[in-house]
Amino acid sequence: LLVSGYVSSLGENIQMLQRGVNELGDVVAISEQVPGVQDAPDAVAAGPVRGEIVFQDVSFGYAGQDARLYDAFSLRIAPGETVALVGPSGSGKSTFVKLLGRFYDVDGGAILIDGRDIASIAQASLRQGVAVVPQDPLLFHRSIADNIAYGRPEADRAAIEAAAARARAHGFIASLPDGYDTLVGERGVKLSGGERQRVAIARAFLADAPILVLDEATSSLDTITEAQVQAAMDELAVGRTTIIIAHRLSSVRSADRILVFDRGRIVEEGRHDALLTRPGGRYRALYELQATG
Ligand code: ADP
Repeated sequence: LLVSGYVSSLGENIQMLQRGVNELGDVVAISEQVPGVQDAPDAVAAGPVRGEIVFQDVSFGYAGQDARLYDAFSLRIAPGETVALVGPSGSGKSTFVKLLGRFYDVDGGAILIDGRDIASIAQASLRQGVAVVPQDPLLFHRSIADNIAYGRPEADRAAIEAAAARARAHGFIASLPDGYDTLVGERGVKLSGGERQRVAIARAFLADAPILVLDEATSSLDTITEAQVQAAMDELAVGRTTIIIAHRLSSVRSADRILVFDRGRIVEEGRHDALLTRPGGRYRALYELQATG
């Protein structure tokens, strides 16, 4: 019995070894892959930006899609403007910000930031100019402080705490067992969705990028948390060009302009009040649908 036990554990170990070797092979293959989007040989650092965004006759479709999502799509967003993207799921809102962050290259036309084609800007510098607060932010298995300083690793503790305070995150961080040194993620403390979003907002405050993308959380936060997240986001948007992917129409009332997307096109735009009074309008229909649940 003893011997057969040893033999079977030997078998398991050999299997583990084989799996490890296979996975190592995968890692090597991935590390040798050439990234899909590459810097042009003469890519430049973008430098300080004002935050003007122009989509110029952009066409784009995902590989494997029958029809193009965007066809000759044009739009200008002024520096400092707050724009909310609304529309049914699958209408192309997320793709808009993915293209802006150059996670994909366009098939035709160009996207310009401050008059410069983003395809000619070094990607590292583009990412510094555009801060994203995702819907469901990912935290690393590091301390809270490291997670906030992710976009600016040289930031000192005072700067990190100031950013957290503006993000309405200082209170809950201070109450954690090790405060800012508390480890988070799978092997550390678990934070709620609202807490993770506020860490991501603190990250964006610290990164201080002129262009901000806020992807609203779809899952409902409790009323107090939602009010805190909203207040932090409003403060973060001041003085930056801000694009909000809005899932709840309640948060777009104060936007300078609402863009209603449908199948890769903007079918309506304007301020909340103006759109709401338009008879038979798309925004009005969406709004009434949400209001009635
Ligand atoms: P929204 O944010 O408005 O829900 P998306 O921009 O995510 O819309 O999606 C627009 C369209 O592109 C949808 O039809 C979606 O199925 C498709 N799409 C999104 N991401 C991908 C992808 N990575 N590969 C292929 N198709 C995609």
